[in-house]
Parts: sequence; C-alpha cells; structure tokens
Amino acid sequence: MSSAPDHAPAPATDAASKSDESRDGRTMPALFISHGAPPLVEDERWTAELAELGRELPRPTQILIVSAHWEAAPLMVGATETVPLVYDFGGFPQRFYDATYPAPGAPGLADLVQAMMPDTQQVVRTDRGLDYGAYVPLSVMYPDADIPVLQMSLPTLEPDRLLDLGRRLRPLRDEGVLIVGSGFTTHGLPFLSREHWRSTDAPPPGWSAEFDAWAQEALHDGDVESLAAFRDRAPGMPYAHPTVEHFAPLFVTLGASSDPETPPEQLIDGFWMGLAKRSVRVT
Ligand code: ZN
Repeated sequence: MSSAPDHAPAPATDAASKSDESRDGRTMPALFISHGAPPLVEDERWTAELAELGRELPRPTQILIVSAHWEAAPLMVGATETVPLVYDFGGFPQRFYDATYPAPGAPGLADLVQAMMPDTQQVVRTDRGLDYGAYVPLSVMYPDADIPVLQMSLPTLEPDRLLDLGRRLRPLRDEGVLIVGSGFTTHGLPFLSREHWRSTDAPPPGWSAEFDAWAQEALHDGDVESLAAFRDRAPGMPYAHPTVEHFAPLFVTLGASSDPETPPEQLIDGFWMGLAKRSVRVT
C-alpha cells in the first residue's frame, strides 16, 4: 500500500553540511591559552610550546584576542591604527617594560565585530593598547608582529553570556581570523607559597592540581555545562580562581567552536609557578 515517493532524494546534503568546516582550508581554529606573566618570554619550555603552536596553525589573516586583563562593559574594542602596549604589571625588571610588539591594527575587524553584535548591544571603540595578557603570548607565537591584531574587552564574567559572545564571533573563523581567549587555567595568586614565587618549576599546590585535573576531564568529555558551572562544581575552588576573570576567556573560545560539545584538543599542560598552563584549541 505504501506509495511514499522514494525517488528524488535530496542530493549532496552531506557535502553541503560539511562545507562550512573547511571552506578553502581557511577556517581557523580558536584558542584558549594560558598567558603566564611577562617572564614567560624567558621560559624555554613554554615559549617553545607556544612557538610550535604558532607554526602549526594556518597563518591567520587577523587576530581577535580577549584577555583576562581587560574587563569592561559594554563590549569595547581597542586601538585599530597604531596599537600601543599597556604595561599592566608592577615590580618586574626594566627589560619587561621595554618590550615592543608593533603589530598592525585591524580596523576592518573592529567593524565586523560591531556588526555581529545585536542592535541592542553597543560596541565602544577605544584607543586602548594590548595588555600583557595579549601581547606576551602573541610575541612568542607570532614574533614578527606582522599579523593585524584587535583586542576586545571581556564584557561579563558569566560563562553563558561569554559562550553566546563566542557563538556570534564564530563566522570570523571562516575569514581566517584567529580568535584567542587568553587567561590562565588556574590563577590563585594569593594562595601561592614562597617557593612558587622563587621557582616557576615548584610543584603545584593541591588546589591547582585538582582544578586542572577536573578541567582536563571536563574538556576531554566536551562537558561545557560542567565547565560553565566551575564555580560550584570544580575542586580547588575558590582557591584556583578567587576571582574568575582568568578562566572566563575559555568560554568565548568554547562558544566559537563549530560544535561546543566536541572535545577541544588540549595543546599545552603542566604548571608554571604552580599555576596550570593548560591551553586548548577548538575547531
Ligand atoms: Zn593574567
């Protein structure tokens, strides 16, 4: 009795649905990187890891970076002509204040970010420079400073809102833009001991190791819901993040994933000053 038409299946739907993932091979991944402190640039192992990451990635057309060091609402974008540096740290040797990173600005990218936000969400243009959460890792990954960079503020610390922000920015990856969330997988500075301030190789405190192991597993499982509830669910809290701005950029990155439930690739791990360096890439 069946007369259901079985002819004329929709052709090539598979190919059509997959095409977004690798358009001309130019779709960039998005990164969450732990950014250390200015002395990171003198750490042989970590700089080697970041430099290798920079070499492995397709060359970005532009870089959009959101760092833990610039919390500002409404959403703000930084300098787009010449891009100065903000030496937002104190008590380090003079050489760290002499660092330069003369990357070109990205005014067109600022226009795009503005256009991608809902009409109700204002985007404020500023002439703020790159803070060390942005320029320190970039100066290791892209030492020639020849890729246009735009820094954007962290407009909220709420994971769900940051996931949504990442989702809005996702199409930029198809334009070859590298989206980078820059923070630290653990950042309990007040709870470090004297040995951590003396040696970047000192073993991690329990709260840092426990939080990092939990994050590793949740990332491995693609468990965005648990990650977003880290304040309540993660061991090692609140010591691992007595304030949460260094974990927050992860959610912009996860939001920018083509499929946030797909486990990100975990690129860098280990500890530095007892803090977890874990860094990830989403596609
Ligand atoms: Zn920082």
